[in-house]
Amino acid sequence: MRDFSSDHSALALNTATLGHNLEGAGAGWSPERVIDACAARGYGGIVFWRREIDERAYAIGEHVRASGMKVVGLCRTPYLVGREVPAKIDDEARASVDMAAELGAPVLTIVTGGTEPDTKGFSETHKRLTDRVSALASYAQSRNVALALEPLNPMFGGNRTCLFTVEDALTICNAVNAPNVGIAVDVYHVWWDTRLAQSLAAARGKILGYHLCDWLENTSHMLLDRGMMGDGVADLKAIRRAVEDAGYQGLCEVEIFSAENWWKRDPAEVLDVIVERFRRTC
Ligand code: ZN
Repeated sequence: MRDFSSDHSALALNTATLGHNLEGAGAGWSPERVIDACAARGYGGIVFWRREIDERAYAIGEHVRASGMKVVGLCRTPYLVGREVPAKIDDEARASVDMAAELGAPVLTIVTGGTEPDTKGFSETHKRLTDRVSALASYAQSRNVALALEPLNPMFGGNRTCLFTVEDALTICNAVNAPNVGIAVDVYHVWWDTRLAQSLAAARGKILGYHLCDWLENTSHMLLDRGMMGDGVADLKAIRRAVEDAGYQGLCEVEIFSAENWWKRDPAEVLDVIVERFRRTC
């Protein structure tokens, strides 16, 4: 297991942590300002959301690289299944791949969406998801982009996800069986899984991203009350050990949706706290 106690070059910022330009969230810093602030603190990389990038993918990617950091990934495809699938799903999904390619992001995250509208449960939804990920994977391959299926905490079932565990995501990943499809592991979504270590071991070589935050003991909002690393009850070191035992050596991205706490603070303070917590608690 890597030692981060005096080296945070493996630290990446997911811009959701600063509010990622959501209406009314965060300080509204431009991507360039966030990049410069991360580079000044020795972060190794950064992950953006599509809404921040718009038509400027290449320029923003160049700014990251010129600052000495890596673009680690892009969030995310549109939902591929469920009620909120866009009408032109193929066009929009391919456009998200194109944006990742222009940005220079090696990984595009997939949050799947929920149960398909004319169905119940998951079996038919999983079949359609497998088909849609397969179709997107071949296009993504042509653009040198990998796709990471991210399982979500089961409370997001219904409308946001049909994958609840690392094991679920790996099942779809194996069914698709494409060289550029893997999984993303997010502490917020997997910390509770008592079989996590076994599932991660089975995902050897398929882990494309590791997302850090903490689970607050008394969470107040299922989407927007993530904790800073060290403030909650997730066993961060044990999870990272299992992730690294499964072969992951990439950057670790901090992704904290926190409407009432971290989004209200000065981004400079948030970035400083992250460095200290990353070294001490992750
Ligand atoms: Zn995540």
